[in-house]
Amino acid sequence: MKAWENNIRKVIPYVPGEQPQQSSVIKLNTNENPYPPSPSVEKALLGLDLDLLRRYPDPSASELVCSIAEFYGVTKEQVFAGVGSDDALAMTFLTCFHSNQPILFPDITYSFYEVWADLFRIPYQKQALDGEFYIRPEDYAKKNGGVIIPNPNAPTGICQPLGQIEEIVKNNSDVIVVIDEAYIDFGGDSALPLLKKYENLLIVQTFSKSRSFAGMRIGFLLGNPDLIRYIQDCKYSFNSYTLNQTAITLGAAVMRDKEYFDQCRNRIMETREWVKTKFLELGFSFPDSMANFLFVTHPQFAAETLFMALKEAGIYVRHFKKPERISNYLRITIGTREEMECLVSFLNTYMSENRSESC
Ligand code: PMP
Repeated sequence: MKAWENNIRKVIPYVPGEQPQQSSVIKLNTNENPYPPSPSVEKALLGLDLDLLRRYPDPSASELVCSIAEFYGVTKEQVFAGVGSDDALAMTFLTCFHSNQPILFPDITYSFYEVWADLFRIPYQKQALDGEFYIRPEDYAKKNGGVIIPNPNAPTGICQPLGQIEEIVKNNSDVIVVIDEAYIDFGGDSALPLLKKYENLLIVQTFSKSRSFAGMRIGFLLGNPDLIRYIQDCKYSFNSYTLNQTAITLGAAVMRDKEYFDQCRNRIMETREWVKTKFLELGFSFPDSMANFLFVTHPQFAAETLFMALKEAGIYVRHFKKPERISNYLRITIGTREEMECLVSFLNTYMSENRSESC
């Protein structure tokens, strides 16, 4: 190693899912929404004042923040907008987890949590999910420097009951408890009503899944105004102009179209329930997902073999090699009904042709 390398901050980065550039693939690997964003986006885009692009954007992203506040019935002081929820989460880690005590999160969860903790030198302790991949609320009752839990969890899709989330928030009143609700719009109960009761609760949501806007990069936090102000202070000490003007304007248009939002997520939930019945017929088992993906395993076919066969057929799903406990699972995003019919039909044929050679 060269001398200058001793003073470099070294991290093991998060590895995002593959983004194949051909449009012909069926892309079920990064939990995107298969439907286009709200039609109001096109109108807002055509009406965008180009002179606004000459100037710096509003650093407080006020138009977007107000649309989010209105949708969720909170004040604009309770909303923080970021460049995707990854940005909002990174700012949360930097601001809220500043203790010598370890922060707690599940051992099987969104793998970016560990990366941010390492990056910011935050001590952490992973709490093992139970045998069925459920979070055990009692694991979060010990002394800690903060808690972060996705609900529904990724990649399992399991949504813990709101009563258990409340128990965790209540038991940790001296630290910040972050509930990452990236997938909450697909049938789970949001912790939003708890905001009135608990000052230490911070909710994270995103435009990337239920609002078909992953490419625009918008995520947000909902919390008490003091906490939001602390996070804003950190953001303004890092980068003032995070969201660009186009994202602010188009994001507000998306947030105002509740009817389309409900239509899309209902279609995805309907397709998910149909896929569940088909996957059971194919012999897969999986936790009962409340997200826009299923986390599946098969007693006869190794996940990695299926992953490769699907990829060769132009169907991209996600396979995590680590931790060991989930290495025989595939995470499959719920696409359109047609895409899922293709997937089921491919698996049907593949499995009947290869049954004798399987593991
Ligand atoms: N939280 C969870 C649990 C996720 O799975 C993801 C998506 N990979 C994110 C946050 C980040 O999503 P985005 O930055 O697109 O809002």
